[in-house]
Amino acid sequence: MMRKQVTVLGATGSIGVSTLDVLARHADSYAVFALTGHTRMDVLLAQCLAHNPAYAVVTNAEQAVSLQARLQDAGLATRVRHGEQALAEVAADERVDVVMAAIVGAAGLVPTLAAAKAGKRVLLANKEALVMSGALFMDAVRSSGAELLPIDSEHNAIFQCLPADYAKGLASSGVRRILLTASGGPFRSMPLEQLSQVTPEQACAHPNWSMGQKISVDSASLMNKGLELIEACWLFAARPDQVDVVVHPQSVVHSLVDYVDGSVLAQMGNPDMRTPIAHALAWPERIDSGVSPLDLLTTGQLVFEAPDLQRFPCLRLAREAAEAGGTACAMLNAANEVAVAAFLQRRIGFTDIPVIIEQAMNCLPVAQVIDLEHIMLADQQARQCAFDWLAARA
Ligand code: NAD
Ligand code: MG
Repeated sequence: MMRKQVTVLGATGSIGVSTLDVLARHADSYAVFALTGHTRMDVLLAQCLAHNPAYAVVTNAEQAVSLQARLQDAGLATRVRHGEQALAEVAADERVDVVMAAIVGAAGLVPTLAAAKAGKRVLLANKEALVMSGALFMDAVRSSGAELLPIDSEHNAIFQCLPADYAKGLASSGVRRILLTASGGPFRSMPLEQLSQVTPEQACAHPNWSMGQKISVDSASLMNKGLELIEACWLFAARPDQVDVVVHPQSVVHSLVDYVDGSVLAQMGNPDMRTPIAHALAWPERIDSGVSPLDLLTTGQLVFEAPDLQRFPCLRLAREAAEAGGTACAMLNAANEVAVAAFLQRRIGFTDIPVIIEQAMNCLPVAQVIDLEHIMLADQQARQCAFDWLAARA
């Protein structure tokens, strides 16, 4: 049997590393076509040595020259390319079967969309790409016949709990609502008055998951759940009011689907991203992921509680953007990216994050989305509003 050819966008990150771990367990079924990385060139080099891809893609020419020389010294034929065009090409290449979209943030939009347009099996970790481009992205998937499989643990869980024909509409599938679980992050029960003083280190110390910095901060602010609410609406053709968020600090139930007959289906498992990665790679088959079996007897109690919107205004802002539609979600995402970067650089406090986002949302009108240029423009304008806020404060 021919091995499936896989491109991993964002190979050097947390999801990228987990993906390569799963692929290495099934080297008879999958070959690595291309690996991409933005920083951590030593990690990318080691990954190339281990997986021997046809291509490696980096951000700039300097990185490309240096990595190419090191690969040649090691006797590898891997060709190194650089830049956004190259990212899109290794995602859309006709030799590729599967693309793992695991670049973080808006930087992943163009290559992820290229994979969707080229009709690939797209394993979507890069939720920001779908949040930004929504209808445009889903149209590309439909018209190319791409297979879009969610990697976000919640959406992967929902996908597993929905009937096979959910695309005909949630109501006609007997679905009452989708329940998106949230861990609540590291600040779920911290006294409110301490929130403004928390450090990036505290925000990145997630109780259950080990992830990249940006998504860790998003998890602490619950913006991650807000982005996931928007993501769920696009993936499952749901209205925002059909998606509820429930805080579940143990991160064992990864999400649930509530049916009109009173049945509630949940997917459970240890919090390890290799489960959704293996699921989406092999779907509809099942393969070993390396994740240890869930031991219910040592799991202890499962707790569920309502999210505190006063503590976590980002969740409210995301729901408002989901309801507004158009360019609102791209604006929300862009302002959040600027705010999170500023927080990580210790330029603002944690509680400034929703303040920046809200003022960026208010400084621009929501426009209709006709094409990618509209999205990029909204993204740029919202970033500018957020930068202006930062400059005015400095
Ligand atoms: P990470 O920061 O660990 O890795 C990000 C990857 O993107 C790296 O390979 C980096 O080199 C690349 N990258 C960053 N900026 C880039 C740029 N400008 N151009 C090209 N490449 C760039 O992040 P992560 O935790 O692996 O998350 C990746 C995506 O998956 C995010 O969208 C995140 O929301 C989503 N996700 C992650 C997890 C998780 O457990 N880590 C879970 C669900 C969803
Ligand atoms: Mg998630």
